[in-house]
This record gives sequence, structure tokens and C-alpha cells, in this order.
Amino acid sequence: MAFSLDDKLVVAISSRALFDFEEENRVYEDGNLRAYETLQRERLNVPAKPGVAFPLIRKLLALNAGEHRVEVVILSRSDPISGLRAFKSCQEYGLSIERGVFTRGRAPFAYLKPLNASLFLSANQDDVRDALAAGFPAARVLPESAKMASKYPDEIRIAFDGDAVLFSDEAERVFQKDGLRAFVGHEIDNKDLPLADGPLKPLLQALHRLQTLADAAAPMHIRTALVTARSAPAHERAIRTLMAWNIEIDEAMFLGGLDKSAFLREFEPDFFFDDQIRHCESARDVTAIGHVLSGIVNAS
Ligand SMILES: [Mg+2]
Repeated sequence: MAFSLDDKLVVAISSRALFDFEEENRVYEDGNLRAYETLQRERLNVPAKPGVAFPLIRKLLALNAGEHRVEVVILSRSDPISGLRAFKSCQEYGLSIERGVFTRGRAPFAYLKPLNASLFLSANQDDVRDALAAGFPAARVLPESAKMASKYPDEIRIAFDGDAVLFSDEAERVFQKDGLRAFVGHEIDNKDLPLADGPLKPLLQALHRLQTLADAAAPMHIRTALVTARSAPAHERAIRTLMAWNIEIDEAMFLGGLDKSAFLREFEPDFFFDDQIRHCESARDVTAIGHVLSGIVNAS
């Protein structure tokens, strides 16, 4: 029988999000594809250093103790030979990643569909934007953000923004167009109407499913948090939406404009996802960041 990904949390990740290929990437960005490929070939036997999403991926794979529940697939614009180095680096660090797709300069996001990925992490802004526009959960890693994930070796902590990340940008549109008062009024009027799905709902849903399957003795646990600029009374619609989805979140922070990074510093997530670059920028020293390039604030 063919192997199936249907019942797994599938994360697709670019080689540059998983490993530190910043030096090689500078050659790639210069437009010299040949020079980039030559450099990678010269270094085939040199393991790459861990990249910004490496600690998170290592922890996610640790959820497989006992049963195969998480599948990580490398999805990369690199050429297949450079892909050898990525796989070799996985082997070096004991990451059990067996599947990969290498598109040699072409946009890779179409392969998210057969992978049924709950998350695509890449450092390439265009690939993430295209993936989100096509309806796939995706975020751009900021390669220069902090590499956390070592402090709590038995817990994966993930923090999510609400509007335009877990939820659609419906309410954010009202806020951007007509301001805070209109936003609050809109949210009170619609408090019993669940917000539409946002781009990263599939990830939260998959994490929640893994939480419900886990037993207390499992070596790795998951903890989630909602970290939103919403405050009362607009909090109610967010909570009611999660209730309508049958998803329980462990912590919720309704910050009403307070700086998110100070709260993230206390929660100590392995990863934080937000659609607004200013929140990403302010939190990049605290945690690894996934910028969700979707919704009204990212419309160009
Ligand atoms: Mg938002």
C-alpha cells in the first residue's frame, strides 16, 4: 500500500529555513545560480549549521516517539545536488527527514497540495506570498531572528496572532478602514458569528489534534497561545470562534496595544506567527518568527 500523509501533521520547509545557508544564499541572490551550485557542491560533505526553524523541527519530529504523527518534507528552490547537502546535514544532526522536493529555481509551492501540508516555512517572501494566495498555510521565517527552543526540551510552545493569522482578516479590514471604534462595534455586533478561517488555522487544528492524542507519559508536549492586540469587548468573538472550531488553546493574551514582545519573552515560544511585520520585528530578538504575508495589511 502506498504511504499516505493523510493522518499526519505535515510541515514543508525550505532548506534555508531549516539550515543556515545565508552565506550560500548571498551568492544565489546575486543571480549567479552556477556559482551557488558550485559552492554547494564543494561543501557537500560539510554539514550546514542549524537554521532558524531547526529547533522547532527537531522538537516536532520528537512527537514521533512511538507513532509516526509528524512528517517533515524539504521543499526547496535548490537544485537536486544541493539537496544532497540538506539531506546529509539532516543525517548529521539525527533529523529523520526522508522526503524532499527540489525545484531548481522554480516556485515550489504547488507541491504543497499533494503534501497536504499544515505549514510551509520558507525564507523566500515570494514563495510564501504565493503559497498563502493559493490557500496554503505558510509563513516566512526571518533568518536573523532568535533561535530558541532549547530551554524546554520536552515542550513545544507556539504562539499565534489572531486576526489574519488564525482568523480571517475580516475584522482587521474594518479596523484599517474605519478605525478602532468601528472595529469594536463590528465585533460586538458579530460576537456570536465565528470569524472565517485564517491562513494558519490548519496548523493550530493539527497541533490540537496531536494534543488530544498525546498521553501524559509522552516525551514531548505541545502548548499553544493566542497573542492578540484585541482587548475586551472584542476578545469575545475570538474565543467564541475557537469554541465553534472545537479547538482549545492553552493561553490567550488580549493585549489591547501593549507590546507583544514583552509577553512573548515570558511565554518563551519556540515560534511566533504574526501577519504584521512590526510585531514580527519587535519580537525577533525573543523568539523565532514566522511572518504570515496575508491579509489586508500585506496587500500591495
Ligand atoms: Mg494580525
